[in-house]
Amino acid sequence: MSEPIRLAVPNKGRLQDPASALLGQAGLVYEKTERALSVPVRNVALELLFVRTEDVCEMVADGAAHLGITGLDLLAESGASLEVAAELAFGTCRLTAAVPNASPVEDLAGLAGLRVATAHPRITSAFFADKGVPVTTIALRGSVEVAPKLDLADAIVDLVSSGSTMKVNGLRPVATILESQAVLVTASAEPSQETAQVITMLRAVVAARRKRYLLMNAPRSALDAIEAIIPGFDAPSIVPLAHDPTMVAVHSVVDADEVWQILPRLKVAGASGILVLPIEQLIP
Ligand code: AMP
Repeated sequence: MSEPIRLAVPNKGRLQDPASALLGQAGLVYEKTERALSVPVRNVALELLFVRTEDVCEMVADGAAHLGITGLDLLAESGASLEVAAELAFGTCRLTAAVPNASPVEDLAGLAGLRVATAHPRITSAFFADKGVPVTTIALRGSVEVAPKLDLADAIVDLVSSGSTMKVNGLRPVATILESQAVLVTASAEPSQETAQVITMLRAVVAARRKRYLLMNAPRSALDAIEAIIPGFDAPSIVPLAHDPTMVAVHSVVDADEVWQILPRLKVAGASGILVLPIEQLIP
């Protein structure tokens, strides 16, 4: 039997729970124990390696894992030349340059000559060099946001999602350096067939989360109006209702974000018995 595909996943931190939710929705069955670093998947030839989020890229780069789930920011910071096989649409955040509220700095150029503390020194140095703004990068491991208070730095570059942590620490954003989210990484743009299958299945979950399955009954005469309401109404299934030849059932897939807009208008157009269902996996 061939070796199982090894997928490195975060064993703690912010990406741990959403990553395991993704694996669960993909239909992978495994038993994670507190200590186990490597866990076989019961129903697929796949082995999960539970590692620190920041070690995932290295594991994939040196061949210990075929695939990995980590943050795009950590991929950029690692400097490893890996491929992004899928954007996973969780762990979304921005790597942001920020200054204390009282600072006179208003924009990126204003940071010239200042000290910038960050846990992302590689990205930060490359970004400011590219912009032609000379700064002194101070590499810290954590608690970056307290660096200005301790007079270790004049500004910081740190990850922000809601912005509340920065606010609490009296910091004001001045520029976005990188938009990040969790990604599936692989070492090769042309992975093996087995690795490609895992990529396809995880992509199918991500694609499905953005979509909803829409079912409704409608008078046949309302089909044009319904067509005008549902975006991308190119391949719906129209099924005649057995007991009433003037009525049809319409099945369609729509963007989850659009459901709120669409539903009331479908009702006005004559649709009834409208059902909105989640989709587990979707392969276009
Ligand atoms: P961890 O340090 O293990 O909790 O994971 C940090 C990773 O989670 C980062 O590298 C980002 O990819 C992601 N992330 C998402 N939002 C945030 C945030 N507000 N602060 C820090 N990391 C975030």
